[in-house]
Amino acid sequence: MRVGVLAVQGDYSKHVDILKRLGQIPYLVRTEAELNQCDGLIIPGGESTTLTIVMHKHGLWEPLRHFGERRPIFGTCAGLIILSSRTPNHPFDPLGLIDLTVERNAYGRQKDSFIDEVTVSWEGHNHSIPGFFIRAPKIIEIGKSVSVLGRHRSDIVLVENERILAATFHPELTDDPSVHEYFLRKV
Ligand code: GLN
Repeated sequence: MRVGVLAVQGDYSKHVDILKRLGQIPYLVRTEAELNQCDGLIIPGGESTTLTIVMHKHGLWEPLRHFGERRPIFGTCAGLIILSSRTPNHPFDPLGLIDLTVERNAYGRQKDSFIDEVTVSWEGHNHSIPGFFIRAPKIIEIGKSVSVLGRHRSDIVLVENERILAATFHPELTDDPSVHEYFLRKV
C-alpha cells in the first residue's frame, strides 16, 4: 500500500512524520505520474488559494479529481476546503469530492487560532484528541452522503464519505496518530 502526500504547499512534512511513525514509507506527490502511483493521498493544511493555484500550475487539478473518484483522500484544513463542494468565500471552485459547504477563516484571524479538545468516534469507540485550529474553516452544511466523525463543542470538525476523510483541524500536529490510522484503514 502506498500513501502519497501532496507536497506542493503547506505542512506536508508533518504528515510525512506521522506516516513514518505508523510504519509507512510516505511518497511525496508533485506530478500526475507520482499521483497515479498511490493507493491513497493526503492533502495537507496550508493556504487553500495558493494550494489551488499551485495545483493548477502542476497540472494536478483534474488528475486529483479523477483520483478522488476512485481512491481515498484525506484533507486537513486547507485540504478540506479544496475537497469540499461549496466555499462561498474562496475565489476558486473546490474539487467537489465531498458534499460540504465550508466557510474559510471562520474563527477569525491568525491570532484567533487555538488548541482545544475534539471528540472523535468511529467503529463504536469515542475518544478525545487535541484539535489544533489554525485559521481554520467551519463546516456550515453537510450532504446526506457525509458522516460526522468528530466534533468540537457543537461544530462538526471531522467528516467522511465513501472515499474522502476531511478535518477542519490538524491531526498531523498532535502525538495522537489515531486519525491517520483510521485513514490508513480506509485506504
Ligand atoms: N486559512 C487557510 C485557508 O483558508 C487554511 C488554514 C490551514 O490550513 N491551517 O486556506
